[in-house]
This record gives sequence, structure tokens and C-alpha cells, in this order.
Amino acid sequence: MRKIIAAMALAAGITVPAVALAATEPVAVHASSINDMAKQNSYGGLTYLDQMLQQKGIQFNDFQAQNKINYRFGKPEGVVIHETATPGASAYNEAIYFNREWMNIYSYVHAFVDKTGVIQMTSPDYGVWGAGPVANNRFFQVELCEENNLADFAKSINNDAIYVAQIMRQYNIVPDNAVHDGKGTVWSHRAVSQFLGGTDHGDPDGYFAKWNYSMDDFYDLIKYYYDNGDTGSGSISDTGDDTIKPVKPVKPTVPTTPKPTTPALPAPVATKLLMHNALVYDANGVKTTLPSKKAGSKLTIYGSKLINRRKYLQIGLNQYLVASNVEGALRLVKHNAYIYDENGVRVGTNKLKRGDYVRIYGGAVKLYGRKYYIIDDHEYVKTGNLR
Ligand SMILES: [Zn+2]
Repeated sequence: MRKIIAAMALAAGITVPAVALAATEPVAVHASSINDMAKQNSYGGLTYLDQMLQQKGIQFNDFQAQNKINYRFGKPEGVVIHETATPGASAYNEAIYFNREWMNIYSYVHAFVDKTGVIQMTSPDYGVWGAGPVANNRFFQVELCEENNLADFAKSINNDAIYVAQIMRQYNIVPDNAVHDGKGTVWSHRAVSQFLGGTDHGDPDGYFAKWNYSMDDFYDLIKYYYDNGDTGSGSISDTGDDTIKPVKPVKPTVPTTPKPTTPALPAPVATKLLMHNALVYDANGVKTTLPSKKAGSKLTIYGSKLINRRKYLQIGLNQYLVASNVEGALRLVKHNAYIYDENGVRVGTNKLKRGDYVRIYGGAVKLYGRKYYIIDDHEYVKTGNLR
């Protein structure tokens, strides 16, 4: 059985934004008037991920239950503004995707925002994995989804600004634009890359620029809602129960460094099928002289561990292999693609469709001179078809 995940309307959304903008919107819409447009809208409201998933009957993978990232001063000291760079994906699509995949893609934020409202993924009381090791234990982090017309863009930034202002008030964080001098409380992911490092993304500037908008404009909108609170024309109408708790002082903790070796074998946690031949490493990520494990073998897993920022699974005392050989990683299908067996022979007429996500296991393998990724037991796809 193949594990193909539907593409969150990616394929459908890819060509829409530029076309819609050019066809329906005058070019010279000034940013100040975009903020005026934004303020005409009322707040879309806040949805909590766990409650949303419960209603849909989808398993909630609690990020904070497994990753307690303490802020260096015990509470967030500012916000990082992100943009998803995924045309056609709504906050709902993103929330479902990140709930399912954070443990594989090492990425998570506090909230996704679109024209409809805000989905809070986890409490801002603790940090997330959104903007690299320097920023993650300082800031709460919010992702704006892409819209395809100006009216919806205005609604989305209105929801974003109201939510951010609300969290800032809750944690007593005074707005101060950090994007020019690297000092302050309102950051873009780009500013983190520029002034703090540990990450190299440039969002949301490029997406904002498509709308003739900037971080300075968005800062003004946040400041407006921070200063005006509920009296802004976009009123805060959150009626959900309040899981955003008041500030709890938490003693800052020094991040623990991973232990160099594991003294004893922990209890097994799972039995997994190895999907790709895999070298055996020690607890420091150094190759051992042990024979490699063969694809198709059953492994007893004793836990997982990050070694040099790469995820490994423990398979024995001081024995580890790279987790992607077992767990795989999602890749986007660039072109419709046939599936082949280990002899390079096409399997039936099944095709992966452009825009789907497919899980691949380990690195590329060569079959009869061509490179393939393993997508399942006895199933291969040519590497050029995946991104
Ligand atoms: Zn970002």
C-alpha cells in the first residue's frame, strides 16, 4: 500500500495568485489603504487545534507534550511573523499537515492565520520550531497563509494583527519594530535570518511585496490593535475558552546537551520495517564497522535521538541508524510519475499525480543506471519527478 497524501489543494492554487492580482486589482493600492481595508473587517476568531481535531476525529499529536521549549526569560519576548509560501493552502490545511508531520519535518509554529481566522497550534507559554535555534527560545511565532485576492489578503492580515496584538498584551510585550535594527519585539523571519542567524528564510517580505505591502505596514497594524485593543473597528470577538494562560514565570533553564553515550539499552518502543539499506552509527553519529542493515528487515526500536540535528533511531546498545530509512520523509511530486519495481519495470499503470505528496525512504538508489527513490516495499519512483 502506498502512502500518498492529498496535496492540500496545492496544485489548484499554484497559478492563481498572480493572475488574480493582475486581473482584478489595480496596481497602485497603497499600503496605508490596505491597512484601512483590513480594519473594515471583524476578527475571524480563534480555534484551538486540539478541539478542532477532536471534532473531526483526527488524532492530536501534542507538540508541547513531547517538546517543552522554555523561553530564555521564562516568557516570549516578542513575535516572529512568518508566511507559509504555500499557495492554495488554508490555515486548516496547514494545521492538519503540521499536526501530522512535525515529528518528521522538525517544524512547528504557534498559530496559522488566514482570511477565515486563527488556528492556535499550541500555547505560546513555550517555544516552537519555526525560526532556528536562536529565535525559537525567545519568540512566539505566527504563520500567515497565502490568499489570492486583495480583499482576502486584507482580511488575513487583519486577523494576524489582532491575534498578535492580543498575545503581546497578554504577555506584556510592548510593540517595537525590530526589522531595521535587529532590536525590538516585532520580527520577521527575514529579520531573524539577518540579525540573529541560525536560519536563512526571507519571509514574509516577498509575499507582502506582491501586495505592495511591507513589514513596516504590518507593524503599524499590530501597533494599532495593541493600542486600541477591543475598541479597534475589527473587534476581538473570541468566545472560545481561554487556553492562552496569563504569564507564568518559568525559571529559565539552560538547554540540556545530549549525553554522549547511552549507558544501558532502554525498553523497546516499537518494531519497524526498514525500507532502505542503512549503515549503523554509534551514539555520536560515527559510522560503526557493523554490517549495514538490509531493507525489508524488521527492527526493534529503542527510541529516537537527534545527533548533529539529524534524527536517528536506536536499534541496539550504542547502535543507531538514520530515521528516514524507516520513517521516510514527504516529498512533493513535480510531474506525474510512474512507479517501478526493483528491476526497473513499471508497476501497473498507477501514477503519482503532480501536486501529491509521497513518502520516500532514505537516499536515492541506482537501478540499471537510473536514480530512484524508494516509496514502498518493491516500489520506486525516478528522482527527477520529486522535489
Ligand atoms: Zn518563516
